[in-house]
Amino acid sequence: MTTTSSLAFLPVLERIAEEMQHTPGRGRAADYIPALAACDPRSFGMAVAELDGTVYGVGEWRQPFSAQSITKVFTLALDLAREGDELWEHVGREPSGNPFNSLVQLEYENGIPRNPFINAGALVVTDRLQTRTGDAAGQLLDFLRAESGNADLDFDLEVAASETAHGDRNAALAHFMASYGNIDNDVPTLLDQYFRQCSLTASCADLALATGFLARHGIRADGGRLLTRSQAKQVNAVMLTCGTYDAAGDFAYRVGLPGKSGVGGGIIAVVPGRCTLCVWSPGLDERGNSVTGVAALDRFTTLTGLSVF
Ligand code: GLN
Repeated sequence: MTTTSSLAFLPVLERIAEEMQHTPGRGRAADYIPALAACDPRSFGMAVAELDGTVYGVGEWRQPFSAQSITKVFTLALDLAREGDELWEHVGREPSGNPFNSLVQLEYENGIPRNPFINAGALVVTDRLQTRTGDAAGQLLDFLRAESGNADLDFDLEVAASETAHGDRNAALAHFMASYGNIDNDVPTLLDQYFRQCSLTASCADLALATGFLARHGIRADGGRLLTRSQAKQVNAVMLTCGTYDAAGDFAYRVGLPGKSGVGGGIIAVVPGRCTLCVWSPGLDERGNSVTGVAALDRFTTLTGLSVF
């Protein structure tokens, strides 16, 4: 995939990688499941994908990691492409201001989660995709393999099993929403789909490439259209306002791009009409976002002047 035709941002990435080596305080790897706790918080990789599919990076940009909540972007896009605006009757699009796994707002809002990027909202999206396709996780995997050009992408069934073993909070969210009639499938089926989705293992290169359709205003790697231009704008907007949970305001302030984080330490970001990025460093802050990942994206938009603002 790497070509020498356009590596426009490589010098910037090299500079950022060098700076990040000297940045103190990298946070802590997620420890709610053993598979993530074993990650070294000093790991760092960062990739840029150009609109034409050229991809390049620095550090451990080819090292697979647990994508976790980054997958919420792709299931949202896949469901939106199928059902359009009806989705928004079941999930909102306002920042939650609460932790990603919070239950508190659901009771006040009749089982309708605040947005698709907190766990409750992602469960609704996966549920709806499951109803429409009969295999939400399979649809996600097919899509990511096609967009990344990496046929070896897969779920990590050990991580998925570990998520299931520690899944009481997500089960509670799903059951609570089901009590309001906002979940279609039986809860164990939904959780199985959701935990497999979270366990997707991919590298910065894979995820930067797979995010390309959002920089191409809805157009997939093969030139076909997944989303309308307007829907691609909507997904980018929800990423900007909700993609990093209760730190979305700070992320917009520092980075100024639509972005989505996961507790595996990855963050994807979109420069609409220009390129996509993925950065990975497993040390998290208390809100579940990669400390070094946010810092690196902050430096990228500062050094290049490329933000949506
Ligand atoms: N598997 C995690 C969960 O559902 C994903 C959360 C995240 O990446 N923020 O709790």
